[in-house]
Amino acid sequence: MENWGLITFRETTLLFDEAESVPRDKQNVAIDIAHELAHQWFGNLVTMRWWTDLWLNEGFATYIEYVGVDHVEPEWNMFESFSRDKMDLLRSDALKNTSPVSRKVEDASEISQKFDEISYTKGANLIRMKYSNAEENDLWYAMAKATPSDPALKDLNVVNFMNSWTRQAGYPVVSVTRDYETRRVEFEQRLFTAATDPYEKMLQQLWHIPVSYCAVGGRPQSPAVPSLGAGSRPARPPSHYPSTIHRLCMLTSTPLVSYYRVNYDKKNWELLSVALKTGQIKSPITKSQLIDDAFNLAKVSQLNYSYALGLTTCVINGEDSKMVWDLLLNNMAFLKHNLRATSGYVYFQDYMRILLAKQLEKVNYGLSKPKDDNEAFLIENLVMWECYVESPRCLKWAREQFENWTKQEDVNNNPIPSYLRGLVYNMVLRHGGRAEFDFLWRVFQTSSDPNVKTLIINNLPSTREESLITLLLERSLSEIPKQYAVAAWSVEAPVGTRLAQDFLLQNFHQVYDKFTQMDAFMFPAVLSGSFGFISTEEELTRLKNFALKHKEQLMPMSQTLQKLVDTATFRIDWVRKHAAGISKWFQDYVSGKSTLSQISTVPPTIPSPAGNSSTTPSDATPSGTTSSGTTPSGTTRADPTPSNRGITPAAA
Ligand SMILES: [Zn+2]
Repeated sequence: MENWGLITFRETTLLFDEAESVPRDKQNVAIDIAHELAHQWFGNLVTMRWWTDLWLNEGFATYIEYVGVDHVEPEWNMFESFSRDKMDLLRSDALKNTSPVSRKVEDASEISQKFDEISYTKGANLIRMKYSNAEENDLWYAMAKATPSDPALKDLNVVNFMNSWTRQAGYPVVSVTRDYETRRVEFEQRLFTAATDPYEKMLQQLWHIPVSYCAVGGRPQSPAVPSLGAGSRPARPPSHYPSTIHRLCMLTSTPLVSYYRVNYDKKNWELLSVALKTGQIKSPITKSQLIDDAFNLAKVSQLNYSYALGLTTCVINGEDSKMVWDLLLNNMAFLKHNLRATSGYVYFQDYMRILLAKQLEKVNYGLSKPKDDNEAFLIENLVMWECYVESPRCLKWAREQFENWTKQEDVNNNPIPSYLRGLVYNMVLRHGGRAEFDFLWRVFQTSSDPNVKTLIINNLPSTREESLITLLLERSLSEIPKQYAVAAWSVEAPVGTRLAQDFLLQNFHQVYDKFTQMDAFMFPAVLSGSFGFISTEEELTRLKNFALKHKEQLMPMSQTLQKLVDTATFRIDWVRKHAAGISKWFQDYVSGKSTLSQISTVPPTIPSPAGNSSTTPSDATPSGTTSSGTTPSGTTRADPTPSNRGITPAAA
């Protein structure tokens, strides 16, 4: 917490022990310190006039946290993480009830809800320029005054430009359409939304968008500067591209503000796919953005899933970038949750094993010491996925590792490599029973190391034993110390979430009192844990009835609840539309059939599983994961700043 002159930290966000902690802990410590230090200027010395512009505090502190950490530890590629975090946010910022970064605050109870990823991450993304004053308009005026010296920026009205981003909710998708005969290209913008029934008013929104384009590997063909003419449906005037691009694929390049998605015509997607697989596109950020855009466009039926799935084959022969894997696996996690109960799930698992095989071999399955932190991050993610898809090697390995530990005379001698511990705990809890649970519970109780405690409590909810899940929820109200209690609610769907919902409904007042007494961010985490992975109409109705019944107490969490409803609605609709077609694609791929044809949506012969809890796919990420669903348990970013980053479920 960034008190002026006295920054306070939780132990887990400050203490780092080379032997016991994981590289991610070290990174989180650095990030938190940089963030709070940045607040000494942004927030403490210079304060926004009113809570409406909270994003100025948090956006700047967040942006500076990347700058600061990058300065002390350049090897971590913090600006890759910056882009990666942006892509995570683009998912939830596409929900129906997302809000602008600059939001009116009329009641004190609304303040805590504003400490969200929109203020932090979207704010940081909109700030890549120079800081001047705390009133929003002053800031852009000052920027405008500073820009005339740059001829390229002469005609730019910065206030209009930035207001279109800070005062409107959501963000656009730019569709690039080429005419391959006349070499003419058009750029059209519209709201990108995951809502099945978006607000009419939001559909009318337009942004000032800096769009430039280039051939793959080439230089930008037009300056990436927004002009006064922007802000119309055509994001920039149509133009003719040079013949040098003629046979190549086109790529937009947006160095200034790239807070939007890009869609292309089909032929260009095919060309991009070839460029990706043949190594012509080298930048990990570009690769990741293409994969992420393709999956998210497919998710809302703006692109056929065959294109997105086709792009994933680019890693089959190995891929060293942790960012590319992060984004790819992140998108695959969404499919994993939702295909879980379909017959296609086995083919999905087979396909994932094919994708992972080469790179896993390259990093020796994590059995040798990683050469640096980046490789440790990558191994953690790859081995976790190997376990997800139930590779026998992984389960055997995890059991051996765990057994080795339990045999030690002193349990404080943990022989498991620290960066793989969360994964091992998760696997043995998931596939084990009471013995594993009790052992870890004892270590949790007796250890004096907060990192050890955190890692264990984050993983305990992944047990599949119903009695143990309920026991854990009960203990969250009694013997689990308050700073760890909320982690007990990171349960897994469908069994864990169903039990958590039951428990919450039956003990509402007790749970409410316990978690709202701590701080304003605990109870929303309880709600997300219980209702964050809804995939049936029945569960959605349950959530709505619950919200109605406790309307008054839940008022301060209205945004969290709305987000849960939006996410659930989207997920249910998605399963109905896409599950069968995608399963077929995986089946065709693993059985060697062509996967070039387009995937059909909502085949009439297959009844919708939505609404039937016994057949509806659902699953959850291991407890304690971030919203990406691809981070092993216990690595949730701990943030001393009040923020709910990392506890809200991914946008569907
Ligand atoms: Zn902050």
